[in-house]
Amino acid sequence: MHIEAHNVSLSYQEGTPFEFKAVSGVDLAFAPGERIGIAGPVGSGKSTLLALLAGIMAPTSGDVAHDGRKLGRKPLPGPGSLGFAFQSPENCLFEKTVHDDVAFAPRALGLKAEEVNRLTKEALACVGLDVERFGSRSPFSLSLGEQRRVALAGLLAMRPRVLLLDEPTAHLDPLCRHDIIERLVRLNDETGVTVVMVGHDMDEMAHFSKRLVIMDGGRVAADDDSGRLLSDRNLLERYSLRLPGTVELCHLLGEATGGIVAPVLDEPAAVELLFQMAGGAEGASCS
Ligand code: ADP
Ligand code: MG
Repeated sequence: MHIEAHNVSLSYQEGTPFEFKAVSGVDLAFAPGERIGIAGPVGSGKSTLLALLAGIMAPTSGDVAHDGRKLGRKPLPGPGSLGFAFQSPENCLFEKTVHDDVAFAPRALGLKAEEVNRLTKEALACVGLDVERFGSRSPFSLSLGEQRRVALAGLLAMRPRVLLLDEPTAHLDPLCRHDIIERLVRLNDETGVTVVMVGHDMDEMAHFSKRLVIMDGGRVAADDDSGRLLSDRNLLERYSLRLPGTVELCHLLGEATGGIVAPVLDEPAAVELLFQMAGGAEGASCS
């Protein structure tokens, strides 16, 4: 699904003394299969933008279009084609069992029981939960990380073509965060589903995003190849964002050696770089 925003603005509490323009004149186009991160300071309009792109909120001015069809004037392109998760989507879990929660949307779409069960099992497996072990549990007896996975499985069970996720790893422990990011990357690679993720952890962004949009004051401040933006210390500092750890390491190595070390964006590349700088990996031993 193509998602486009044309000169989109949104003001909260319009026409009152408290009117506030949260998103201002945004032009964006997301193509099918992209993996896009949206970052920016707190209050820069990331969540509002995501809700506008999903069609959950209507812009004050400008248009959002899905597959060329402007929202608000024509119906959304078919149920289930787009999955949107608010921050803390586990707050929306409500069924008695994990299975029923994940099965809710496929059932609502009127699918046969066999198909509902298959989609539910696959969606749970996709987020790392075994239906045999978790299916009959109450969602409210699960850890936060497990609840978050169930909420994401509820979206995946609809087989969406686009996932719009607002800080899906917020408040989770580091291993769970890493696992969820890894699964989103795999899902995008293997199925071609578009994934748009709002986040503020630049290590996760380095791992996740191919393209990065930086928001500031409701406007798009930068929109480019993720590696290029995440290597730019001045740009990230301007928008109160930290460098990814591996890029910071390269800067420190450059300072220590009096040279320029080309930034790398993942840990294996950083390890290789360290081996090279230490005189080559050949014969090196970890013991
Ligand atoms: P972000 O996700 O980048 O932190 P948001 O999109 O949540 O930013 O909010 C953008 C701005 O809009 C913030 O200044 C926020 O305070 C304001 N805002 C968000 N929701 C409302 C609301 N319902 N009423 C008034 N202002 C709001
Ligand atoms: Mg937000």
